[in-house]
Amino acid sequence: MTVPFMISGIILLLIILSCVLAPLVAPYGESEQDLSDSLAKPSKEHILGADKMGRDLFSRMLFGGRITLISAIAVVLISVIIGVPLGLFSGYYGGKLDSITGRFCDVLLSFPSLLLAFLFVAALGRGMTNAVLALGIVYVPMITRLVRSLTIVEKNKTYVEAAESIGFSRPYIIFRHILPNCFGTLTVQLTLDIAYAILDLAALSFIGLGVNPPTADWGAMLQEGRNFLLMSPLLALAPGAAIVVTVIALNIFSDCITQYIDPQGRPLPSFEKMEKYRAALTRSLRAQLKQLSGAKKIETGILSIEDLSCDFVTIDGIVYALNGINLKLKRGEIHGLVGESGCGKSVTSRAILGLVDKKHARLRGDIRFHTTNLLELSENEMRDVRGKRISMIFQDPLNSLSPLETVGSQIEEAMANHMDLSKTELRGRTAELLEKVGLHSDIAKRYPFELSGGMQQRVMIAQAISCNPELLIADEPTTALDLTIQAQVMSLLRSLQKELSLTILLVTHNFALVTENCDNASVMYAGKIVETAPTKDIIKSPFHPYTKALINCIPHSGAEQNHEQRGKLQVIPGFPPRLYEPVKACPFVPRCHMANSKCDEMPHASNLGNGRLVCCRMAGSV
Ligand code: SF4
Repeated sequence: MTVPFMISGIILLLIILSCVLAPLVAPYGESEQDLSDSLAKPSKEHILGADKMGRDLFSRMLFGGRITLISAIAVVLISVIIGVPLGLFSGYYGGKLDSITGRFCDVLLSFPSLLLAFLFVAALGRGMTNAVLALGIVYVPMITRLVRSLTIVEKNKTYVEAAESIGFSRPYIIFRHILPNCFGTLTVQLTLDIAYAILDLAALSFIGLGVNPPTADWGAMLQEGRNFLLMSPLLALAPGAAIVVTVIALNIFSDCITQYIDPQGRPLPSFEKMEKYRAALTRSLRAQLKQLSGAKKIETGILSIEDLSCDFVTIDGIVYALNGINLKLKRGEIHGLVGESGCGKSVTSRAILGLVDKKHARLRGDIRFHTTNLLELSENEMRDVRGKRISMIFQDPLNSLSPLETVGSQIEEAMANHMDLSKTELRGRTAELLEKVGLHSDIAKRYPFELSGGMQQRVMIAQAISCNPELLIADEPTTALDLTIQAQVMSLLRSLQKELSLTILLVTHNFALVTENCDNASVMYAGKIVETAPTKDIIKSPFHPYTKALINCIPHSGAEQNHEQRGKLQVIPGFPPRLYEPVKACPFVPRCHMANSKCDEMPHASNLGNGRLVCCRMAGSV
């Protein structure tokens, strides 16, 4: 705890307590007067002296402070009640609501706040209640703007996308996930706003638009005292000093408060605890490796994507991101979806979960999960699928977990959304899930930032499997991890897939990961699947030139390379197309060494038997 934080906190506490307890601690009543004490100097009877009417200045300071502080808090509360939901919804939903809210804020902010408050009070009539209402409305745009910009930042973070993938409703995500993550900045702003409100209320009372005499507040007392500045300076100095000290203390307090709101300021775990976690991790890994020795059984039919297309409207024009995707996943398989960045892998996985922004995207085709076309489901129906029947893990585990919630509560939350379990059952299952993914159950009390990247990804996996989904989409699950942790996470996924009969769609740009872990692989290029086959076949003899080029890019040890290749990292010349036009010819033409005049027409997928589909005019001659 820093010295400025302690000093400002103690000053504020003293001011607040003495004002709140004014009826108990003040030596005289608020308006108790004795004309014989008019303008009395400080004495034993009147610590700070008395005003013109013989009222005790100290007592009036306490009663006046009570009204000033309560009114300032009321101003901020009004602005919070209106401004926070407005900012949250306009930032999250955007569109017309955001435009209207934006214009409303622009208009109010174009006037100086005090001038606007004068206008409102003039219209509503003088008095403290109207002054509070007026200032409350004047402060709304500041809060709305702040919350809106915080919401826009938060809604683009992966943890919000992860929450959507679990199936939470949008209002739930807004209030349960986004709002808590705005609290830090918002609390600082609100503390500052209380200080501003004290000043503005004092200004309104000073010009006679605040409290009605004989009620006291610091602004009105300042106004009364200035007439006796020479005879009794304390009458003006005391309320002035109270305003200045309170505002400065609030400013310092708000500066210091952020570090105590942020859980990252909390102490680190002990060495002993971390050693315990590591030992548990090692034990669990050994158990998983043992399990992997068993044979795997693949059944048929869980997901079938047919002729899926997706176009996006962007500022630069329409992007034809997916151009007729066909993909089939058998129950219990690990299917690799591989390709360069921007080829449409992530759009495909988001389309399966209904996470593509339908306002700016046009989706066509079928995504059949068992017999249901997911594209025909309403948002409410999709929420029953997300997290419960199909779940997803993302590439950056730290950003995919809400930073202000413990990992245990995030896992419990996912289950509470889909399963009818009591609090105790939720806690028990969370501990079980953490142990299943190789973590000690004590991890539940930790925040995401207290864990390593590998542990965070394990928490994501625990959350993803918590509702026993049938299909798990792993979108670049190891990209943010180092090689050793990559191997551990993939080993965990394989063992879970076997134990829980999961079907996994592994989305990755890393062909090596596919060859080591997948039963079947589909290669994507320019929004199209160009080759699908059992992984072992595709590696042995790729039938599409792009597949072959990708396989050649896998780094090999020097011993496996011929003299010419040795020491060189293979790359595919050229760049993928930008997809601002509908694809008519084979999109690989500019980079293909086998391109010829036949390739000017888009090739259709040919079934070459043994589960191999290839989309190339020269399939088989590669
Ligand atoms: S269709 Fe032609 S350009 Fe496209 S991959 Fe096959 S050979 Fe190359």
